[in-house]
Amino acid sequence: MLKTLFCIILFFSLIGEFQLQAQESAYPLRTVKQSGRSWVYLRDIAAYYGMKPSVKGKVFTASAKDKKLKITQNLRKFYINDVVVDLSFACSKVNGQLVIAKEDFQLTIDPIFRSWALPKHRLKTIVIDPGHGGKDSGARGSKVYEKDVVLKAGRMLKTRLEKYGFNVIMTRNSDHYLTLTKRGDFKGDLFISLHCNSATAKSAKGFEIWYCTPKGMKAFGKHDVLSRSVAGNHMNPNNVNLAYEIQKYVIRAVNPVDRGIKRNRWKVLAQYSQPAVLIEFGFLSNAQEQDKLINSAYMNRMMDGVRNGILSYYNSIHSKPKSN
Ligand SMILES: [Zn+2]
Repeated sequence: MLKTLFCIILFFSLIGEFQLQAQESAYPLRTVKQSGRSWVYLRDIAAYYGMKPSVKGKVFTASAKDKKLKITQNLRKFYINDVVVDLSFACSKVNGQLVIAKEDFQLTIDPIFRSWALPKHRLKTIVIDPGHGGKDSGARGSKVYEKDVVLKAGRMLKTRLEKYGFNVIMTRNSDHYLTLTKRGDFKGDLFISLHCNSATAKSAKGFEIWYCTPKGMKAFGKHDVLSRSVAGNHMNPNNVNLAYEIQKYVIRAVNPVDRGIKRNRWKVLAQYSQPAVLIEFGFLSNAQEQDKLINSAYMNRMMDGVRNGILSYYNSIHSKPKSN
């Protein structure tokens, strides 16, 4: 009896409820403690967004008319509306139910699903940052250097954004070297850094986007939880939403291998206090992908996708609050 009572007390001390900021409906999401961390039940998350949950073995899915989630137990790889997103903590099981870390819910999933609740800000000036330049060639493909691919793409994107009335600043509009610190001196309302990847494994290919790792989370592929904030964390929910929208629209535009949305405190992201992302177009070390990245028609379509993602983000931060 005493043992049972103790268990009950322990159980109630381990669960809690929380509500998200800036929400209209007051739907409580239960949290449960395990391994010193707060977790949220995936079933609660599905209910919160009005989605129908389903569990098959280790795979949890949930869907509604305009939303879709998919995650597998013990994995950090998450699918939000079919877009690959890296979580900080692998999906786990508590009390026989699948859970994810509270931080992943609050700082990754919710800013994507409830984009209307994102912090509002002015969005008139966009800084485009073609990586590398001058003596720094960046990744070297057999036919082209990264610095040249990203400059050309930056100009394509500039034209596209100006058509929509944005004021666009390029950190460089010619082949010259610029330190990472200097790139942060260009003041704007949004910062988009452009890059290409390279790998020793020639088969590696695909498109990915990075944003600044928030405090309390882990960088992609890393195990250390970051315990302090940097300037780049000023707009955490906006960063991940911007990354998601661009990833989604680029997939629609050119259908690359989806390497997902990832976190790291790359200097250009960590030092910028307005929403910022770093885009990796693809791998110059992969022969087929290099051919695409030097193809103007392909890059024009990809820049249509990047522009559409930015426009979608713009619409989100100018939309009116809804109830979920
Ligand atoms: Zn680069």
